[in-house]
Amino acid sequence: MVTHQTIGERDTVLTSGDLAALRDNLHEQLLFREEQLRQFAADSPPPADGPHGAGQIEVRVKLAASARMVLADVEAALTRMDTGTYGTCHLCRRPIQRERLLIVPQARYCARCQQVREAAR
Ligand SMILES: [Zn+2]
Repeated sequence: MVTHQTIGERDTVLTSGDLAALRDNLHEQLLFREEQLRQFAADSPPPADGPHGAGQIEVRVKLAASARMVLADVEAALTRMDTGTYGTCHLCRRPIQRERLLIVPQARYCARCQQVREAAR
């Protein structure tokens, strides 16, 4: 007989295969973001006095800032994997849903705490 308890646990507990896949995913994101930031740094900025110059610089600054934020999140997630604290919500200390981690591997909070944080903004 399959019990409901077993199904419930499978939703949250990460298998070693899950962790390996998530680690690969995080590594890919790390490389992608590092490359993105390298390109932001290497590209010469568009002329600020051109018709769209100032706007383009603003967009690039925002893109670079969000790339840096994601990079920091990804690096933190990889560190948590190394220290064995990966997959635990930073606020309520409960395991983050497996399904959520498979979509957002660098998530720090469970879906509920994330909602609370976003509502508080
Ligand atoms: Zn939480």
